[in-house]
Amino acid sequence: MRIVLLGAPGSGKGTQAHRLAERSGIPQISTGDLLRAAVTRGSGLGLAAKEAMEGGRLVDDALVLGMIRERLAEPDARAGFILDGFPRNLVQAAELDGLLGELKQPLDAVVQFEVDREELMRRISGRRTCADCGRVFNVLTSPPPSGAAAICPKTGAAHRLVQRADDNEATVAERLRVYEEKTRPLIAFYQSRGLLRVIDAAGEVDAVTQRLARALGLAARAGRNRRARPAVRRAVRAKAAARVVKGRRAATRGAARRKPAGKKPPPRRAPKTRRGAAPKRGGTRRRGRR
Ligand code: AMP
Repeated sequence: MRIVLLGAPGSGKGTQAHRLAERSGIPQISTGDLLRAAVTRGSGLGLAAKEAMEGGRLVDDALVLGMIRERLAEPDARAGFILDGFPRNLVQAAELDGLLGELKQPLDAVVQFEVDREELMRRISGRRTCADCGRVFNVLTSPPPSGAAAICPKTGAAHRLVQRADDNEATVAERLRVYEEKTRPLIAFYQSRGLLRVIDAAGEVDAVTQRLARALGLAARAGRNRRARPAVRRAVRAKAAARVVKGRRAATRGAARRKPAGKKPPPRRAPKTRRGAAPKRGGTRRRGRR
């Protein structure tokens, strides 16, 4: 499965990409996460990207494309990938097309997440990320749960929630403007290629997960397999049993036919016959002929 998740900041692409990656075992590739990691490491790429990210603008195409080229060349991406936050404009989409064409790995689907602006603002202002494991929560709509789920798998302590530097009001407004201007045209781009599926991404996280799975044909396939499996197992068992019975009947018929017809025994059994079944007649005749 090779897919792109498209949608405005706060539309839930990251959360759903994470869930889909866990379910399907194929990697989520988020250019935002890769760039944030580069900024944290203080690498050359991070330093070059930092200013644009803090201003809510897009990072230079050449930097992002170099990064995505390297990431798609990693072995885990051979089984497929979920692109989250890439491509972000028409240049990136065209480059991705060319790259996947070279690799002979075309996209299977592009899913557009639809959420109204009011809901986007609410989600972004409540968004908090665990500084250690990277899990995303929302203090307004999906706060960290209590009990074992409240424990960070990386540290074994409670999640350390931080707000992303670019989730402040001014930057969010710019990110939404950039989305409308640069990223929204990708809807028509992928629609013209017959790849686009649109889902309502408002409401509960679980409900959106189900809509996404349906859009990708995953829910229906899983359901059909679950129903079909016992029936298939029964059919295989019945066929195997029928083969055993048929084999036994054939063996019985074969043995019955061989005896009265007095057919020559197969060559390997010849010594047995000479010494056992008719030692005098067979042995005498053969010796006599020599
Ligand atoms: P995200 O986590 O996807 O919201 O991305 C955070 C920031 O990273 C964006 O506001 C951009 O500054 C930068 N960014 C992420 N993906 C891209 C991309 N494909 N092209 C350019 N900039 C990007």
